[in-house]
Amino acid sequence: MIKQEDISKILDATEIVDVINAFVPLKRRGVNYIGCCPFHNEKTPSFTVSPSKGIFKCFGCGEAGNAVNFLMKHEHYSYPEALRFLANKYGIEIQEEELTDDQKALQDEKEGLFHVTDFAQKYFADILFNDTEGKNIGLSYFIERDLKEETIKRWGLGYCKDKWSEFTEYAKKHGYTDEVLIKSGLTIAKEETHVQYDRFRGRVMFPIYNIGGRTLGFTGRVLSSEKTKAKYVNSPESDIYSKGKVLFGLHLAKNEIVKQDLCYLVEGNMDAIMLSQNNVENVVASSGTALTVDQIRLINRYTKNVTVLYDGDSAGIKAAFRAIDLFLENGLNVKIVLFPDEEDPDSYCRKLPQEEFKTFITEKAENFILFKTHLLLQDAKDDPFKRSALIKEIINTISLIPDNIEKAAYVQQCSSILNMKEELLNNELTKLLREKLFKQKKEEGLKKETSPTDIPPDDFFLPSDDGSEYITNPKAEKQVLPDTFPDEAQERKIISLLLNYGEKETTQIMIAENEEKKEETFLVAAYLVGDITTDQIDFDNPIYKEIFDIYKDYLLEKGELPNLNIFTNHQNKEIQNLATTLLINNYSISSLWESKWKISIPDPECPEKFNQDIKESLLSLKLNKLERKINIVKENLRKESDIDNQLILLSEQRTLEKIKQIISNELNRIVTR
Ligand SMILES: [Zn+2]
Repeated sequence: MIKQEDISKILDATEIVDVINAFVPLKRRGVNYIGCCPFHNEKTPSFTVSPSKGIFKCFGCGEAGNAVNFLMKHEHYSYPEALRFLANKYGIEIQEEELTDDQKALQDEKEGLFHVTDFAQKYFADILFNDTEGKNIGLSYFIERDLKEETIKRWGLGYCKDKWSEFTEYAKKHGYTDEVLIKSGLTIAKEETHVQYDRFRGRVMFPIYNIGGRTLGFTGRVLSSEKTKAKYVNSPESDIYSKGKVLFGLHLAKNEIVKQDLCYLVEGNMDAIMLSQNNVENVVASSGTALTVDQIRLINRYTKNVTVLYDGDSAGIKAAFRAIDLFLENGLNVKIVLFPDEEDPDSYCRKLPQEEFKTFITEKAENFILFKTHLLLQDAKDDPFKRSALIKEIINTISLIPDNIEKAAYVQQCSSILNMKEELLNNELTKLLREKLFKQKKEEGLKKETSPTDIPPDDFFLPSDDGSEYITNPKAEKQVLPDTFPDEAQERKIISLLLNYGEKETTQIMIAENEEKKEETFLVAAYLVGDITTDQIDFDNPIYKEIFDIYKDYLLEKGELPNLNIFTNHQNKEIQNLATTLLINNYSISSLWESKWKISIPDPECPEKFNQDIKESLLSLKLNKLERKINIVKENLRKESDIDNQLILLSEQRTLEKIKQIISNELNRIVTR
């Protein structure tokens, strides 16, 4: 128990900016400091620290409190632990009241785990330097690997003796219970016999720390060449340690990462340690496991720039590819350095003089896309199948980049390396993005985000024949057209034609002023927009109306077709969803589906049918609108008592019915032809 007067002293001495800045890079803004919130994922900082008030608050997720609260939340400290941390930081001596035996049996489970892990780290480090077996086997291994004593101490490396339960017994003597030893994974207990033994027997020990430098767990590397033993053993997941949420070395690297605005990522723990010994201190290791999004977010707190340093063997390259895709998806900039055959960052770093190594990793850092393209190209040579797989692979990687301008730049670069038309790559990219958007939408649960006119039934999606993608079941889609808007189907068809075929040509018979019929060719967009605008037809569904208006304004003002991104990336989610759905529907319905589902799909390759379809869609829309207009006029006529007005309405009705007759005839002619 910490005495109240000591608590006051600690709180008085605490500078909150100082405390938080050790974990979250802060920048001054006016009287406050801001940074990216460590408690939720954000790209623009909304985490604010007020030095005068001694508090922090995140305007994104609402987390708030003082320095002690911050440490408890961020470092998972208990209240007394946070106070002890601060006392230590500010050199305040605290006199703790005697702990009772119960208290010694550790206040809460997490704290107990932190305690025993920390205890183990000190024990293993002590064995390394002071025990005969530790020195002969463990220490000599590290020295053989060119580690300096100072480095070994800085990283807290250690050794666990090759005895069954020496550590477990030692820990128990110091008051640690079976329960906490087993939960921490340091001790393994056989279920049947209850025999207990040390997990890491005969291994050199790499402690794993959190950002604040507290020990969470260990990686143990075996030194004997016995094939039956796993080379690396890790602490199991526990309340304090989750493999996918820590990065080896980040507690030492973070300040240098911020300073250089760059993070080097290596695979092995030894790679990270060796690089840091050689003055490359902004380095972290993924510890040989596949990188996770949580780990990337950790890096993202400190920098947007990552250079991946992986082995040049095929396993290393594969791991690098995976890592790169994940980084790109999360908006980081990635470069890659591949090491010469048979070398890894550790070995190469030992081979070259310090400065030469630094130059190597700076100058060899290659833009990921050039790297990937060159590499795959080498492999594919002139094999057309491999080449097409390569293009898919590269396009897939480019599609992960969130920024559109960057995407375009990469497409350009690749087109020149691959000696391919940019347009072709762009088409592939658009196709892929559509598919992705579609899948994503499906995963997010369409029901939540879609407009009421767009709720699909359960059988809306069908797997395609090879199971690789989902396509729309057109039958199901037809069933869902709701009655919310009377001309729903007709309006939807027009919007679908504009989005999917706006840039295609259509030839239509036009009637000139002298009543002469003449064939004219238009862009589908110009034909539909022109006709609908001239006839002053309004869309009833507000989403269709907005899409049509955007399309029309673009066409009329700029004289060109709008880029479909405008709709698929529109800030209005309903427009986004609708545009995507319409684009996807058309994209995925193959001729196979046409025969299976017996639905007509506009086919620009078959001009006669295509032209008919366009005309029919337009006429159907007009006919529906006319019918409703006529009904309104009739209704008004019924209510009208003034005879003059009645005559006007009657004449209006006749005119409309005449037009209706013309349109019906034309439609029948098309449909029955
Ligand atoms: Zn937050």
